[in-house]
Amino acid sequence: MLENEFVTFSQNFLDRSGNHRSNQKKINEYLCKNSAQYLIYWRGKVPVVSDVRDQLCWVGRDHPLVLNYSGMPTFLGLENDIPFFSINISSWLPGNYNEAAAGAFFDSNIYNHPDLPESSFFAELRGFMNRISAREAELAVMTRGINVWQENNLYCSKCGNLTEIINAGWQRNCVNCGAFHFPRTDPVVIMLVTHGNNILLGRSHGWPDKMYSCLAGFMEPGESIEAAVQREVLEETSILVKNVRYLTSQPWPFPSSLMIGCVAEALSKKVLIDPKEIENALWVSREEMLEAFSGNNERIYPARVGSIAHFMIKKWLSGSIE
Ligand SMILES: [Zn+2]
Repeated sequence: MLENEFVTFSQNFLDRSGNHRSNQKKINEYLCKNSAQYLIYWRGKVPVVSDVRDQLCWVGRDHPLVLNYSGMPTFLGLENDIPFFSINISSWLPGNYNEAAAGAFFDSNIYNHPDLPESSFFAELRGFMNRISAREAELAVMTRGINVWQENNLYCSKCGNLTEIINAGWQRNCVNCGAFHFPRTDPVVIMLVTHGNNILLGRSHGWPDKMYSCLAGFMEPGESIEAAVQREVLEETSILVKNVRYLTSQPWPFPSSLMIGCVAEALSKKVLIDPKEIENALWVSREEMLEAFSGNNERIYPARVGSIAHFMIKKWLSGSIE
């Protein structure tokens, strides 16, 4: 297992105080604290400050967006007795909103809210995830994850009726059949497949030109991590792997995944892709990968900085992974 101190989104500083979520009296006390901090969530994005995009934009309890909020803020947790909350203003629609871009692989648009500082804007989290501190990355990823879950579970999956939010944002109960619904995380295996001096990379349909990353796929019910790694590599490239080992993990709330990073050894090199699953797969030598990381390779662009794939490939290049 690798130390994950440098995997973006993977460090946990916050005291989530999960036992306080169902205690409305306690939550109300936190809401009334002058030190309470709020992170505004809007359509998958959170606000950042300045063009450098290295700090989140926080507001206090007396900010107009908080004062005028009609819903129940989601309680994120405590740090040094300071309570952190998020509120969802996704119903706000700026005049320059680009709906097509919002549904694309990566939305590079930025949006200014008139009530937030002029120097701040809502932007795609993946565009600044490696610039903000690990502490703020945890709060951003948590805010995105819990709000997306709340938005996607308005209706009961058992009877189809409306659900209502309770426990400071962390549970939805059906108003009809009483079923409880909790935030879900979808496990995804992502693997560094090695063969001597080479690793196997692939690209999905619709990715930016020349971008290649580690193979990955959702785990299935009743499957171990090892079996999922073997099945996904076989399905996508027809290659058998052995000796699957866990390396590290990364919360990836796009929309609700937990990336489980593994390394595996290929038993052969002949690639036969399933075109329904991926667009292409290829073997990349250590030398070519080093070129790609330094921006000097014309065939491939490496996985984005901040992704677990980037982290694992970098560790392999440094010799930390055999
Ligand atoms: Zn129901």
